[in-house]
Amino acid sequence: MRKTIIAGNWKMFKDLSQARELAAGIKENLKDIRSDSIEIIVCPAYTALSEVAKCLSGSQIKLGAQDVYWQEEGAFTGEVSTLMLKDIGCSYVIIGHSERRQYFNETNDGVNKKTKAALKHGLIPIVCVGETLQEREANKIFSVIDDHVKNGLKDIPSCDISKMIIAYEPVWAIGTGKTATPQIAQEVQGYIRNLLIELYGEAIARNIPIQYGGSVKPDNIQELMKQPDIDGALIGGASLRIESFSEIVKKAFEVKK
Ligand code: PEP
Repeated sequence: MRKTIIAGNWKMFKDLSQARELAAGIKENLKDIRSDSIEIIVCPAYTALSEVAKCLSGSQIKLGAQDVYWQEEGAFTGEVSTLMLKDIGCSYVIIGHSERRQYFNETNDGVNKKTKAALKHGLIPIVCVGETLQEREANKIFSVIDDHVKNGLKDIPSCDISKMIIAYEPVWAIGTGKTATPQIAQEVQGYIRNLLIELYGEAIARNIPIQYGGSVKPDNIQELMKQPDIDGALIGGASLRIESFSEIVKKAFEVKK
């Protein structure tokens, strides 16, 4: 059985005291959810990682970062390595988020190097894939997914693939309030599953969690989670409030527990 993975991407929001308050509130609200079938992750900005790690101690909630650089150390001003993230208490890292692809020239090659570095040092990568509105309208959805998956995961051995998570995030649904319908999300996520089967075989591919991301809210999470290839959610806006994030986690858990 695949795990349900619910992750909150706090993006460039929350100063230290706000981050502490959000983490503590989520921890309190979700203290009764103790289960091996669900992973709950929060991904604050780098500046709040160590404080949030302290707040989360003793809970089931895990810490993730929003990006990473592939070198272990060196003269790379502004970058942060997998070793630094591990040291501070992260167990997950988001890689290839569409905002990084869109505004910071993230490429599939960079995604591939970062994913390999994360896996090498025991960080679980959440690799984001997904088409823009223009690509959807030009009927390029599946070729974009092929490109993101095949090149982003290039030369990663099967033994490592089974340790990672994929997030399908249609760019047109991120921060826009436009959620993909459960059917649209399932169509693409089923395609991703088949692609993984083609690349890595049935046994491995069936165990890889695929999250959906794009305007997930408490009122749409359950229909999404009922789809066979939706194993959780990557949440932006709604992860910034204690109540909405906690509600999403509880509702997802009700469907998949
Ligand atoms: C995201 O940033 O990954 C995301 C899905 O954002 P939102 O939930 O705000 O659409």
